[in-house]
Amino acid sequence: MVARDLAYYAKKFTNLRVDKARGTAPHKPILLLTVLDLFEKGQIHRNEVYLSPELTANFLKFWHQFAASDHHSNIALPFFHLTGDQFWHLMPNPGFEAAIQARVKLRTLPALRSAVQYAYLDGELFALLQAAPSRQHLTTLLIQAWFPEKRDQITESFKYDEFETIQQTLFDSGGATYNTDDLKDQDQIFVRNAAFRRNVVKLYDQRCAFCKLRVISWDGVNLVDGAHIQPFAQFRDDRFVNGLALCKNHHWAFDRGWFGVDDDYRIVIPRDRFTEEAPQESRGMMAFRGERIDLPREQRFMPSLEALKWHRERWNAV
Ligand SMILES: [Zn+2]
Repeated sequence: MVARDLAYYAKKFTNLRVDKARGTAPHKPILLLTVLDLFEKGQIHRNEVYLSPELTANFLKFWHQFAASDHHSNIALPFFHLTGDQFWHLMPNPGFEAAIQARVKLRTLPALRSAVQYAYLDGELFALLQAAPSRQHLTTLLIQAWFPEKRDQITESFKYDEFETIQQTLFDSGGATYNTDDLKDQDQIFVRNAAFRRNVVKLYDQRCAFCKLRVISWDGVNLVDGAHIQPFAQFRDDRFVNGLALCKNHHWAFDRGWFGVDDDYRIVIPRDRFTEEAPQESRGMMAFRGERIDLPREQRFMPSLEALKWHRERWNAV
């Protein structure tokens, strides 16, 4: 049996099976570089690599520096196809075990995100990447094998986190609006949406504006979402004044007009939308009628009254 040691993975990294039909496809080496980058930044603690906005944004960071124009940046491709190199494995979401086992091709980011929980590495490789000397050795080899002329640029790119940069830039400008040409690429839409949502949630101190609940897991997963008042698909408006932080329940209810917010930021609940039975010890939705929502501390991020009016009228929740 072959020992799965540093030499074994060094060989794997320099001999990745890549598509050469239109010149060497850089997807796999760029994804591996991104994973090494996240290890270096201390963002991977467990043997679980998620298709997160951080991974995607930093993948695009490297992609834009190195990729030949013939190829299309699509993180789903290498995330899926690296399984062929036998050190990268996919953990399916419940219900997708058979599809992953049968290697049903998942070519888009949304399709892959719904089927796959995370990717994980061989245990031996994970251990090697946790230790700085072996991680740096493998990084150097990967760069030498695939991007020999770009070594200095890569070293520079390792110094910053692209997702943090995007999030901060968006914060400084109070959000952004896009036209249809700006965001064609699914990877980019995914990153931009995540940056909007995280910023909005932060502005509301991670609390649901409706019920004030704050629940965050130890690794940062949040029960509270950044919701759009006017839907993104229709308005492409990622300004924070078009956002509200809402927990999953109240996000769902808001998107269906089960409640609205009036000009005084008080909760309005239409009488004809639902019935409710709440035990004494819990607070149902009706109990919030007339209560003021939580608001961001900064005046400039207050939700737009115009957008809230649009939402009330859309749902006849006046
Ligand atoms: Zn809530």
